Amino acid sequence: MLQQIVPLRLCALLALVAVMQGCITVPETGRRALRFMPEQQLAEIASSQFSEMKREMPVSSDPAYTERLNRIGERVARASGVDPVGGAWEFVVFEDEAVNAFAMPGGKVGFYTGLMDLAESDDEIAAVMGHEIAHVGLRHGNERVSQAMAAQVATMGAHYATRDMEDQTQTAVMVAVGLGAQLGVLLPYSRLHESEADRIGLLYSARAGYDPRAAVTFWERMESQAEGGAPPEFLSTHPSHGRRIADLHEMMPEAIAEYEQAVEKLGRP
Ligand SMILES: [Zn+2]
Repeated sequence: MLQQIVPLRLCALLALVAVMQGCITVPETGRRALRFMPEQQLAEIASSQFSEMKREMPVSSDPAYTERLNRIGERVARASGVDPVGGAWEFVVFEDEAVNAFAMPGGKVGFYTGLMDLAESDDEIAAVMGHEIAHVGLRHGNERVSQAMAAQVATMGAHYATRDMEDQTQTAVMVAVGLGAQLGVLLPYSRLHESEADRIGLLYSARAGYDPRAAVTFWERMESQAEGGAPPEFLSTHPSHGRRIADLHEMMPEAIAEYEQAVEKLGRP
């Protein structure tokens, strides 16, 4: 991962921080957000990280998983209208019993078999799919990387005056490592991002003709499973149960209207 991000290229990226006014308004929610990374660049980095994950983790070839996830993913992605800028949608099932799913810039989406097994219907898988596609559409990866890099650049600026070239290179490499971590699945999105993805994702799955009420039943099942032992990974990085259910209920009337319209137009998936 580290070797793929050469320091020179990184310095060019860092220069962007200084010259670009990266604050934009998130059209879907009206919130101001810092995003100055070129989406193309992010998609390339995410794509190589995703390839590395596929080499390092067992990938399912069972059509019961893969065909199901691809069918649902393609349908929700199409209905959402989200453009995975710089990449192409890719839906991969990882063989892991953790209840987890993730999305990266450029449209790379991973679901664990643990999550697929817990779902009792396509509607429930679509609910998680809508959430993940919303992270991509809302460019949450870009925002997290931008925030992290802005903080790093501030630190580096202070050190440049006193350190020699070798040290600067070293710092750039450390930033690259941080950048990789930000893009990966290990660091959770913030609660604000999760809340946005819940709300917008509910509309995406509904527009594809999946019943949005399944989002509530699925999160509730995950929650009850968490009470019986170790919390599912997906839950531990996500907003409080009460917050999530409140978000979903608030969006539900609009989502049900979209769902009924979609079923009329496209039929049930
Ligand atoms: Zn999420």
